[in-house]
Amino acid sequence: MSPALDGLVAVVTGGASGIGAAVAERLGAEGARIAVLDLRPEDAAPGIFAVAANIAQEDSVNTAIEDVFEHFGRIDILINNAGIGAQGDIADNPDEEWARVLNINVTGIARVTRAALPHLRRSPAAAIVNTSSIAATAGLPQRALYSASKGAVLALTRAMAADHLHEGIRVNCVSPGTADTPWVGRLLDSADDPAAERAALEARQPHGRLVNPGEIAEAVLYLASPGAGSTTGVSLAVDGGMDALRLRPRS
Ligand code: NAD
Repeated sequence: MSPALDGLVAVVTGGASGIGAAVAERLGAEGARIAVLDLRPEDAAPGIFAVAANIAQEDSVNTAIEDVFEHFGRIDILINNAGIGAQGDIADNPDEEWARVLNINVTGIARVTRAALPHLRRSPAAAIVNTSSIAATAGLPQRALYSASKGAVLALTRAMAADHLHEGIRVNCVSPGTADTPWVGRLLDSADDPAAERAALEARQPHGRLVNPGEIAEAVLYLASPGAGSTTGVSLAVDGGMDALRLRPRS
């Protein structure tokens, strides 16, 4: 049997680190040819076609997508994964920070998708997977701006799925819980007591640990694969049960 993504080309934004890097590796192992778009292409795994791109800027995105098409001659799968964090309650961030975060986490998806759309329309197996978050559906403390951005990603995913179904383009998202990535590592390092902070984050997830980026990559692989041909407009939680379960304390 040939690998699930044999012959297909996948673009992964933010693919030089964390979840994006795990996704790039996993899709590559299933036969996809991978292009990473990242602010830091030099951090991508050796041998990967990595293009410098800032998803906050239209020119940068358009040039990068052109580079990918020139290199591979097609684009079938788009993983809109690049994103940034924001901390604080509703009063803590000035308008400029709201604009900066929404520009990357939300408009960035619009920008990259817009550029890739003509290529996706020509693919026999087009799929888009966006990275939302548990923050889209659960009220987390001190994450007002970040949650607003990821809630928008969830809503955008459904709207995109509706618009592009008739063109043969499926659109889904993954909604990870707190995952063990360099980003979360940086957050822990900045805490007063990193070990206590890590223990609190682990305890918040019903399975008692952080999510492994490889587990998110498996979910992305499924949603991106032609085998998921009847799945569109969904959010696949990869959160150890945090969104769906209400457990009783174990005695
Ligand atoms: P990370 O910081 O480890 O990796 C993010 C990558 O995106 C980096 O390589 C970075 O250079 C790139 N990037 C950032 N801004 C960019 C821009 N403007 N243009 C191009 N590239 C840019 O982060 P991660 O933890 O792997 O998170 C990836 C995605 O997953 C984000 O959208 C994040 O919101 C989401 N997410 C993360 C977690 C978590 O716990 N780590 C949980 C839920 C959702």
